[in-house]
Amino acid sequence: MKTHFPNSYTEIDLELITRNLREVRRQTGIEKILSVVKCNAYGHGAVRVARRAEPEVDWFGVASVDEAIELRMGGIQKPILVFEVPTSRTAAAYQTHGLTATVSNKAHFSVLMDGTKYHLNFDTGMNRLGFHPSEAEDVRQLAVANQRLICSGIYSHFATADDPGSGFVRTQLNRFREVLTHFGEIPLVHMSNTGGAVHYHRDIEQFTMVRSGLTQLGYTAGDVQVDWLTPVLTWKTRLVQVRNIEAGESVSYGRSWTAKSDGYIGTIPTGYGDGIPRALSNKLKVLINGKFYPVVGNVTMDYIMVNLGKNKLPVDSEVTLMGGEAWDASHWAKAAGTNVHEILTGLSGGRMARSYTDY
Ligand SMILES: *Cc1c(COP(=O)(O)O)cnc(C)c1O
Repeated sequence: MKTHFPNSYTEIDLELITRNLREVRRQTGIEKILSVVKCNAYGHGAVRVARRAEPEVDWFGVASVDEAIELRMGGIQKPILVFEVPTSRTAAAYQTHGLTATVSNKAHFSVLMDGTKYHLNFDTGMNRLGFHPSEAEDVRQLAVANQRLICSGIYSHFATADDPGSGFVRTQLNRFREVLTHFGEIPLVHMSNTGGAVHYHRDIEQFTMVRSGLTQLGYTAGDVQVDWLTPVLTWKTRLVQVRNIEAGESVSYGRSWTAKSDGYIGTIPTGYGDGIPRALSNKLKVLINGKFYPVVGNVTMDYIMVNLGKNKLPVDSEVTLMGGEAWDASHWAKAAGTNVHEILTGLSGGRMARSYTDY
């Protein structure tokens, strides 16, 4: 659906993507960065984010072949690693579009077409995708036997790196190190995601590359944020109605909030259909004219309501929902009991307009 009359606006400051990526290098000393732009760059627009990130990074990573093709169509030239499993249906696309596959199962060696580049994926504790470490020797032999394919990397993925004090990070690292002893010279070795890079760069080996989606967008993973990253996205809208409420009257479905005194309620035209978690009912605070106002009553699909108290603000007043001086996605995540990733990917609905500032 084309949005002629959007209900809200996201503004993405592209210069901050550059700044965040340079800060990642400066603060962590990490050698190579693979910019993860899956899921439409966590709702920020994959091609726009990737174009801006391209001079600062070495690789791109996406969840699917379709996402990789979108990047190629958008002019992205750097290598792209696809995380999903290759199938007979997608095998040709890796060659056509110059994509690097992930081999995470023995069958994948026969699925891919001659000359396809790939990275091996070992599962050291996620139990999601990847070879079991005990298969390392078999996998090495298969790689040697399949010289028709080109192995250019090997990786694994942390389950708990968003927590700066997780012992399991080291367990996984040790399992991965053991796997690596079976393989001689593989050009690229990578394990850290955002959490591994930001929270653990002093403590654990980062190998030759880190894979990060969040840092370029100005966030780290987990509850502990760092002051050297700046969120690139702000989300704004306007008050569409300002109404009286009398003490004792309730607001929204389920009547979860009741006014204690007479005052004003502001109606805002964004709801869970646009990515405001219903779990933020009676929790979220939004910024209007430099002052925070609490969302009261349950978040609805299309609207949220805020308690303006005695302030009869004018209709059309600008409301900052996220970013800028308002709550950023990490505050949202904490209040909603989820992670920053889920909050940001939730904003990918079709009713808002996106604009990009470039200077
Ligand atoms: C999504 C993903 C990442 C990036 O996660 P961030 O927390 O944004 O850094 C890295 N590696 C793999 C395999 C992923 O699926």
